[in-house]
Amino acid sequence: MSEDEQRPINDSRAYELVKSLRVSFNSGKTRSYAWRAFQLKGIIRMMDEKEEEIMNALHADLSKPRLESFVHEISLAKSTCSLALKELQQWMKPEKVSSILTAFPSSAEILPEPLGVVLIISAWNYPFLLAIDPVIGAIAAGNSVVLKPSEIAPSTSALFARLLPKYIDNSCIKVVEGTVPETTALLEHKWDKILYTGNAKVGRIIMAAAAKHLTPIVLELGGKCPVVVDSNVDLKVASKRIVVGKWGSNNGQACIAPDYIITTKSFAPQLVDALKISLKSFYGENPMQSEDLSRIVNSNHFARIIRLLDDEKISGKIIHGGERDEKLLKIAPTLLLDVPDDSLIMQEEIFGPLLPIVTVDNIEESIDLINSKPKPLSAYLFTKNKKLEEKFVRAVSAGGLLINDTIMHFANPNLPFGGVGESGIGAYHGKFSFDAFSHRKAVLHRSFGGEVSARYPPYTAQKQKF
Ligand code: NAD
Repeated sequence: MSEDEQRPINDSRAYELVKSLRVSFNSGKTRSYAWRAFQLKGIIRMMDEKEEEIMNALHADLSKPRLESFVHEISLAKSTCSLALKELQQWMKPEKVSSILTAFPSSAEILPEPLGVVLIISAWNYPFLLAIDPVIGAIAAGNSVVLKPSEIAPSTSALFARLLPKYIDNSCIKVVEGTVPETTALLEHKWDKILYTGNAKVGRIIMAAAAKHLTPIVLELGGKCPVVVDSNVDLKVASKRIVVGKWGSNNGQACIAPDYIITTKSFAPQLVDALKISLKSFYGENPMQSEDLSRIVNSNHFARIIRLLDDEKISGKIIHGGERDEKLLKIAPTLLLDVPDDSLIMQEEIFGPLLPIVTVDNIEESIDLINSKPKPLSAYLFTKNKKLEEKFVRAVSAGGLLINDTIMHFANPNLPFGGVGESGIGAYHGKFSFDAFSHRKAVLHRSFGGEVSARYPPYTAQKQKF
């Protein structure tokens, strides 16, 4: 990177940046299969050669366990990139569609074309994956790209700024580091698409900035992901999958981590016992010392989570955990039972290691309870009851649903990943990423044949006999 590129971006530099990327894009070079494939291969090479550095950056930012860094971030990004590389020629092909009789003879096709110059603003909790995954989609679709990684994960952000230019075409793909002023400067300008990952408050700022230029957006937001646990389950398996989905996902700092459990009053004691057993077997007697749990990302987020925990509306509701260490930014895996709906913990996304359990008389009430709240990014159900499963799948509105497990749907590239309502707009992953950064151009081809005089004025009485 040149010295100029290392300076914080301001409005005039942002202008120059977008202008230069538009020149590169307009040169047409990002459109070829060869250019796209070369960049994707470069990203795979970067992940192969710099795996250790990526892991170290993730550890510095979040003390993320190595296994989680590899499985949840690097390996997922590698498979995204390999899939794009494998399928790219197919994805780029025009799709033939049938024509209509009134336009006979003609042929019709849908041609995917790149949108142009796109901006990707990513979040801190999976700072490697959430940045590189959409970049892969944007490159596959043939765009010029600016990536703005999250400043809350500074080691990973710096790593991107240092590494990416060595592996990809830096005239078309740039990394801009920065905080609110730098992002605001970027947002002043016209982009052809913005993909933002983060909270809904900033999502509204992104949407307002995009509206000025009629820029289309993908907003990957969050929310409170419910887990419904019926009494008709394999409790041992269910509790392991809930615990690993909550605390094994960045210690609850994941957009699709279970946020709260809904179960019946009568089943709650058994469920609580099973969760405690799984917690103990995964993280030992003293989870505050476990190396298999990420820390809270910073003191602001630590204070935010402690505020939820110290809300007097939930006093006496902690049934497991609750320990905290401000210096080490650690909070123990914590279970709470029967928290009131108007408590902070039930009003805000938790995004941390607290898991409240809400009880109902009848498990079917869980559906109305979920639907009475803003639409979540993911909703989970554990049951062997097929009728309940069917009802849940049809009645619950969420970005995605997963039955009898947690978080696994994220890794399936054949499923679109995105929210609905308050949890987001648009989706990506696999081919959906390519589509998110493409325009599906409608093309109708005709010859000069097939003339029908009835089409043309004057509209004589004879022509109007229909
Ligand atoms: P964050 O603080 O890293 O912010 C995200 C990005 O927004 C950063 O790049 C940041 O620089 C930028 N930003 C912050 N303030 C801004 C402003 N005023 N103007 C312009 N840009 C600004 O991340 P966060 O918001 O704390 O992330 C957590 C939230 O993101 C949670 O709600 C979580 O559920 C959601 N999330 C969603 C997904 C998903 O894929 N749907 C993934 C991860 C996190």
